[in-house]
Amino acid sequence: MDDKYFTGAKMWKEAKFPIAFTGAGISVPSGIPDFRSPGGVWTKYDPMEVATASAIEKNPKKVWDFILETSDLLEKAKPNPAHYALAELEKAGKLMGIITQNIDNLHQRAGSKNVVEYHGNFQKYYCNKCRVTYTKDEVKKIISNKIPPYCKCGGVIRPDVVFFGEPIPQKAIIGTNDLLNKCDLIVVIGTSGEVSPANTIPRIVKRNGGKMIEINLGPSYYYDVSDVKFNESADIVLPKLKDIILS
Ligand SMILES: [Zn+2]
Repeated sequence: MDDKYFTGAKMWKEAKFPIAFTGAGISVPSGIPDFRSPGGVWTKYDPMEVATASAIEKNPKKVWDFILETSDLLEKAKPNPAHYALAELEKAGKLMGIITQNIDNLHQRAGSKNVVEYHGNFQKYYCNKCRVTYTKDEVKKIISNKIPPYCKCGGVIRPDVVFFGEPIPQKAIIGTNDLLNKCDLIVVIGTSGEVSPANTIPRIVKRNGGKMIEINLGPSYYYDVSDVKFNESADIVLPKLKDIILS
């Protein structure tokens, strides 16, 4: 095994408050193509037509076609060894939390507990008008009769995810800041840093004097700040790192 693994594992072991920051790349081995990549959701749908606050009001049927196709893809996916390695590290006290940009629920399904969902979760729902929340099962029942589903108040029901142009939920901002305030090592996984404002998170840790391990296939916006960079898929790197850290 090359030295990079030992350098990375040593850095991780020595950290007092290591956290992970994950993006689409960690779920690619689970069969979820990056929305922005070829074959991804955004090559089929125009995000401005199906993933904005005004789209859900103006054209709820079209938005719900997109929601049903996407939730089917996400529900069929299973956590991969990268998700499981992070869950195991948390259990062993070697990972304090995860900030994820993903909406696929795979960290939780792998067993991770402290997960901040920066862009929400596709399996939780609320009414776009009165904001009352709905569970997945409640929504399933409603859509078996009628698509798009409506709330008793007359508003359209929508997934609890951040659409384009919408602000990051307050809960996510507070959760992120709580982790960042203590973080001395951020492990950036499967995110090249193209989506704002989430992409600023790793640089905040560096500015505070912390370190950065990066696991990204291909180039990223963090080339100038990562201390160790693995140019391999996360489902290969994380189990190996985990084994060294926990050995
Ligand atoms: Zn309502």
